Amino acid sequence: MDLGIAGKWALVCGASKGLGLGCAQALAAEGVNLVIVARGAEALERAATDLRKLPGAATVLTVAADITTTGGRTAAFAAEGGPGTNFDIVVNNAGGPPPGDFRDWERDAWIKALDANMLTPIELIKATVDGMAARGFGRVVNITSGSVKAPIDVLGLSNGARSGLTGFVAGVARSSLAGANVTINNLLPGAFDTDRLRVTVEGASRKTGQSIETLLEARSKAIPAKRFGRPQEFGAICAFLCSQHASYMTGQNILADGGAYPGTF
Ligand code: NAD
Repeated sequence: MDLGIAGKWALVCGASKGLGLGCAQALAAEGVNLVIVARGAEALERAATDLRKLPGAATVLTVAADITTTGGRTAAFAAEGGPGTNFDIVVNNAGGPPPGDFRDWERDAWIKALDANMLTPIELIKATVDGMAARGFGRVVNITSGSVKAPIDVLGLSNGARSGLTGFVAGVARSSLAGANVTINNLLPGAFDTDRLRVTVEGASRKTGQSIETLLEARSKAIPAKRFGRPQEFGAICAFLCSQHASYMTGQNILADGGAYPGTF
């Protein structure tokens, strides 16, 4: 299926590894021009080199910056040869907050989580959607978490911050932006095989005393699909949401979790 987005410009955050990289790969394969952002320059440049080799890949620019800071976002918009704030597609993503016990989290921990997983996507939406609306096309995909629908106790910072973003998106996606062909959707990963999954499992291992391998095996067996997701399949869903074909989908929370969420809706 031709997604009809070749030549568009996409900003993909947290794109040197994991789910963000999966999204960047799927968009690059569609001929979308990319500005990819991550904090570590080395991993980011490696990712960019691989992305440029994909058949059909167009321009891939890199910005090594912390997207949760004002300076990082300014740098992304100032990428030389990039579109400024005139992105057609924005994939919002940053590292998830650490697991832990809510009794140990002071205000600073909460502010950090809110900055990364709620306020940064809102800032990037604010900077880009009016331009998208003026041009008659825009796609925003926020990588959130299955924990928005089925909270995980040790991920309280994530549950809280991402729910704030989800509430915001539910309103703004249904504003006049929808009539201007600007869609905003949240893509909710369940358990995907990335570095982040390992960090989460390490937290559970410290808490329970069980080995990481035992926990990983038990967790994958508990998923109806009997495996962890692959970043490439997450990227393919993201690219579809960014496509011309997804114009009539907005304000949605789309789970990709191998059937793990047990509810009917
Ligand atoms: P990951 O750790 O594998 O990759 C995160 C990427 O984001 C890396 O490229 C990293 O450099 C970049 N990054 C992190 N913080 C950044 C920042 N402040 N500025 C710029 N770049 C930054 O993580 P992942 O598994 O790909 O997860 C992506 C998101 O999805 C996270 O928020 C995570 O909590 C969430 N999530 C992941 C899973 C999973 O199973 N992997 C499940 C639920 C939710």
